[in-house]
Amino acid sequence: MVFQNSIVSPGSQQTIIALQFTAAPPKVAHQVTHFREEQMHYVQLAEQNIPVGKIVAIGRNYAEHARELGNPIPADDQPVLFIKPASSLLADNGTVVIPPYCADCHHEIELAILIGTTGKDISQQQATNHIAGYGVALDLTLRDVQSRQKSKGLPWEIAKAFDTSCPISRFVPANAVADPQKLPLELRVNGALRQQGSTADMLRPIPRLIAEASSYFTLEAGDILLTGTPAGVGPIHSGDLIEAIIAQVGSLKVTVG
Ligand code: ZN
Repeated sequence: MVFQNSIVSPGSQQTIIALQFTAAPPKVAHQVTHFREEQMHYVQLAEQNIPVGKIVAIGRNYAEHARELGNPIPADDQPVLFIKPASSLLADNGTVVIPPYCADCHHEIELAILIGTTGKDISQQQATNHIAGYGVALDLTLRDVQSRQKSKGLPWEIAKAFDTSCPISRFVPANAVADPQKLPLELRVNGALRQQGSTADMLRPIPRLIAEASSYFTLEAGDILLTGTPAGVGPIHSGDLIEAIIAQVGSLKVTVG
């Protein structure tokens, strides 16, 4: 990286751009390893705006969904985890943009968890103490691209992490949900029911998911966990209206551009 040995202070977007085109970086006194710029993305928890870090998602967390895609159910010690960047977020009532390199974009309704307290190697017993709230999310997936990547043994990001691939509702505080493991999920496309399930059917319940995810990645306040999708995933097309509802948690509505 050109600016690896350069001082870049927060807010100095111009400096970064200039350095990217500098052949020989200037000599500097010390190294800055990371920083935050203005490109923050936010979700709403009650009336608060919360800056989002990363979005950690799990694949194949409902047996019926794993089966419908012909995937094996993950072994006990091997969760299928991947990350969507904060730039994939799309607010309620937004417009999904399917990338031009895809011909088969699928909807996946998921219960989203907002992390409120940072933790690493969180125990299952402590897991719920790290949850700030619950929301409704879509893990939009370019199924054709993902299948190609899978067949070649390549990462899924270009199929899972594109801009607008993570529509998200506002979050409700954790204490507003009596039992997050007993919530009905429902997704409709143009009014037709496509996905119907219950969070009771998660193969890895929420405490276990938090414990396992935090064994790989520090879960920071403002991170979001997507908990997997029930069966019924299918294609969406330009002009579609997608409505996702999780009782006690909320609803989400987006159109496809
Ligand atoms: Zn998913």
